[in-house]
Amino acid sequence: MQVSYSQDEQKFRDEVRAWLKENTPDEIIAQTLGGSTLDPELQKKYHKILAEKGWIGPAFPKELGGAGFGEMEQFIFNYEYSVSGAPRLKTQLMSVGMIGPLLLQFGTKEQQERFIPDMLSGETIWCQGFSEPNAGSDLASLKTKAELDGDELVLYGQKTWISIADHADWMFTLVRTDSSGRKQQGITFLLVDLKSPGVTVRPIEALTDHAPFCEIFFDNVRVPVANIVGKMHDGWNIAKALMQHERLNAFPIGELVYAVETVRKNAEKTKFRGKPLIEDPVFRRKYSLLEIDCQALLDTFFMLISQLKTGTAPGPQTSFLKVYGGELYQRVMDLDHEAIGSYGMSWYNEEFGNDVHQATMGMINSRSLTIWGGSSEIQRTIIATQVLNLPRK
Ligand SMILES: Cc1cc2nc3c(=O)[nH]c(=O)nc-3n(C[C@H](O)[C@H](O)[C@H](O)COP(=O)(O)OP(=O)(O)OC[C@H]3O[C@@H](n4cnc5c(N)ncnc54)[C@H](O)[C@@H]3O)c2cc1C
Repeated sequence: MQVSYSQDEQKFRDEVRAWLKENTPDEIIAQTLGGSTLDPELQKKYHKILAEKGWIGPAFPKELGGAGFGEMEQFIFNYEYSVSGAPRLKTQLMSVGMIGPLLLQFGTKEQQERFIPDMLSGETIWCQGFSEPNAGSDLASLKTKAELDGDELVLYGQKTWISIADHADWMFTLVRTDSSGRKQQGITFLLVDLKSPGVTVRPIEALTDHAPFCEIFFDNVRVPVANIVGKMHDGWNIAKALMQHERLNAFPIGELVYAVETVRKNAEKTKFRGKPLIEDPVFRRKYSLLEIDCQALLDTFFMLISQLKTGTAPGPQTSFLKVYGGELYQRVMDLDHEAIGSYGMSWYNEEFGNDVHQATMGMINSRSLTIWGGSSEIQRTIIATQVLNLPRK
């Protein structure tokens, strides 16, 4: 399946491609595949470069600071962005990619005007506070409590595994406002200022020698009811809509194309039995299989995109992208690590430069793709029950 562009679309694609090449600093590209270790200051710097160009929020209206692109321009921009090797910015992933579109869908006009311009300009960084120590896959079991007191909610409890919380200003979260019904009922979707008294953010150190996520504690934190998204107690329905955005974004397809290309380049440099590794038939076979699987995923992605263009909201089919894309990405990163060979033991190498760092970090970090945003097991259940309509056991 191919996307055919009109002359105007081709012109736009060429403009985007040329601008990204010109304006994406090498220091940022060099860390793309090791994504979650990308220095937050570098992320902010690149966020501002994109924001100044007016390209940070392709889908957002111009009056709120977005690019105001049409459907096809959005697709072209997003695809060219990720295939160029530019990274998924955490400054953007949870704001422009998740809570921003959700506020356009469910937020009040006041919430849209208050929060969206600052997230687009990069003034505020957002994180997603859903998981708790005993509520990950079974998210509806969450226990963080919020009690109504006048026109405020008072929060008490704990969240965990919250990416980039130590750099975030705001968090969108789910809290329990009523325990009397089913566990999916009585949940409220809330926007919390992380500078509020009573909030403690504690980074969690990972094996990769940095802290990709944090624990967050609430001790009688007061949040205005004006920060509820949707209706009180109806947060589960809002969260389900958000998770579909998350799953669509979880897998930037162009980055996979970039990663497959990186494997080839690395395998051209590594020598095996006196020849470039890419000429080894066993390696070539593995590489070809990945290329074919990647093309199959691209076709599925284009099919889902064309559904979106007809105005259909992302549905449970996005679980397919998340599970297949995540597992394929892991295979690509495993092969990239193989392509680097024994150089992958170090962070830097004269011949490969930062590519060894990317290959190793990319391989380690890609493990998380099948966990966050709903693990592969959970996605398979969604596909079975909501796409294939198989009976639940
Ligand atoms: C890198 C990273 C970043 C993250 N960032 C965030 C963030 O920003 N915000 C946030 O809120 N959370 C975040 N998370 C948390 C993530 O969403 C959870 O880890 C995930 O939902 C799984 O929950 P859990 O860790 O509690 O594992 P569990 O739910 O305890 O699952 C453990 C294992 O059991 C399996 N399992 C559980 N239930 C079922 C079932 N019903 N059927 C079949 N198998 C099942 C799971 O697939 C998994 O393999 C992040 C996690 C990672 C790894």
